[in-house]
Amino acid sequence: RPTVAWFRRDLRLADNPALVAAVEEAREARGGVVPLFILDPRLERASGAPRAAHLARSVAALSEATGGRLVVRRGAPQDVLAGVVRDVGATSVHVAASFEPFGARRDAAVEAALAETGARLVRTGSPYAVAPGRVLNRAGEPFQVFTPFRDAWLAHGWRAPVARPREIPWADVPPDRTRDGLPEVPVTDADLPAAGERAARDRWHRFLREHLRGYAAERERPDRPGTSRASVALKWGELHPRTLLADLHAAVTDDRTLADDAVRFRTELAWREFHADVLHHHPGAASRSLRQILPEDAWATGAAERDALAAWTAGRTGYPLVDAGMRQLLGEGWVHNRVRMVVASFLVKDLHVRWQRGAEHFMAHLVDGDVPQNQLNWQWVAGTGRDAAPYFRIFNPVKQGKDFDPDGDYVRRWVPELRGIPGTAVHEPWLVGDALPGGYPERVVDHAVERKVALDDFARGRAS
Ligand code: FAD
Repeated sequence: RPTVAWFRRDLRLADNPALVAAVEEAREARGGVVPLFILDPRLERASGAPRAAHLARSVAALSEATGGRLVVRRGAPQDVLAGVVRDVGATSVHVAASFEPFGARRDAAVEAALAETGARLVRTGSPYAVAPGRVLNRAGEPFQVFTPFRDAWLAHGWRAPVARPREIPWADVPPDRTRDGLPEVPVTDADLPAAGERAARDRWHRFLREHLRGYAAERERPDRPGTSRASVALKWGELHPRTLLADLHAAVTDDRTLADDAVRFRTELAWREFHADVLHHHPGAASRSLRQILPEDAWATGAAERDALAAWTAGRTGYPLVDAGMRQLLGEGWVHNRVRMVVASFLVKDLHVRWQRGAEHFMAHLVDGDVPQNQLNWQWVAGTGRDAAPYFRIFNPVKQGKDFDPDGDYVRRWVPELRGIPGTAVHEPWLVGDALPGGYPERVVDHAVERKVALDDFARGRAS
């Protein structure tokens, strides 16, 4: 009898415990493994073109890695799976567990549909080094704050990566009955990274060789290629965080002078695990603030909100670092973390637009767009999250530009109107010459004024 390996956001063959479980069961049952990917129309509608394009290319790479045997079906997973299981005569479907609200609900529905056919849904592993919900404090409760979570997460530890099964007995499934063909790659202008497990591994190894040294300092510089860009591969499971953690450990064992950089990188991965854990315990945080800190009337509404969003999404706020970031989002489907924080802060605290609107725009354009990471980072910036930046710490977009893009190269790369302004002066184009360079907009708001409005709103919220 064959078993089914249902790939979702774990589009890889290496370090994939669910695939190993499927292979072991198939061997015992003298059957093959049916590799399956389901295009769920609900998810297709929710993801923007860059993410859908990356997914389509990554599924194509996975198909190639299975020797073209990947079965791709479109439809509601519970219906597709019940049909596939019946067609091929499988008694189990292997997956990595899903913890996000949508995935957890979907899997419960799948489990119920499979039960009617007599088949089981077998969960092995998850997209995290430690599954959400496992790291608890001494009282057996979830952590509220990041640093103690990180320490307990480190103390908990994780298993070593599992090797890719040497030979995978892929089942040959008749094409006509079970295939809808590979997903189409939607049209997008974004300049996206190469997709698939091999490309992700190559990028990661290049990062280890060329940029791990110095990461702790360089990671703050949007003008330099100092970060791993692994977020896309982690989002789609082309790489597993366990692999990255093991490689970091090996790098430091070889060369102790990399220790600080590796610790910093591990801390960033711990944020990813913390956000997944928070969302697991508070599924409502995907759309609602975990804490209400501002009065209802603090938010822009109607035309004011529309105008603010129009300037922000187009990268035409008149603040160079903000505009560069918003244009990088459209240009690459990825934005440097420092700049994500600055543009998010600007939307919430200078333009007084609710974080949910910004999160929605990010999700439509980010190639690494991921509900726990996106929504909880937005809540962190907005000051509404579990362990969030205090609301009164408001990013000054000009100072952030001078501190983290000191030569102005990042701004000039993304805002061509400002290319004629050399050096750090590019962060304050209104101080250069009599008029702004052709086509570059006036500032939509005065940061000093809006900062005060935000702080007053915050004080009113605390008093009420
Ligand atoms: P690196 O510096 O190389 O970091 C290594 C890995 O650590 C990343 O790949 C990522 O998995 C993790 N990491 C780093 N910073 C964070 C962080 N702040 N929170 C959680 N994990 C982190 N990340 C996403 O993966 N998807 C999102 O949808 C997303 N939305 C964001 C929205 C906002 C408003 C902000 C401020 C941050 C968001 N982030 C998101 C986090 C972070 O910006 C990206 O993970 C990071 O920029 C990815 O680039 P990198 O892989 O080169 O990072």
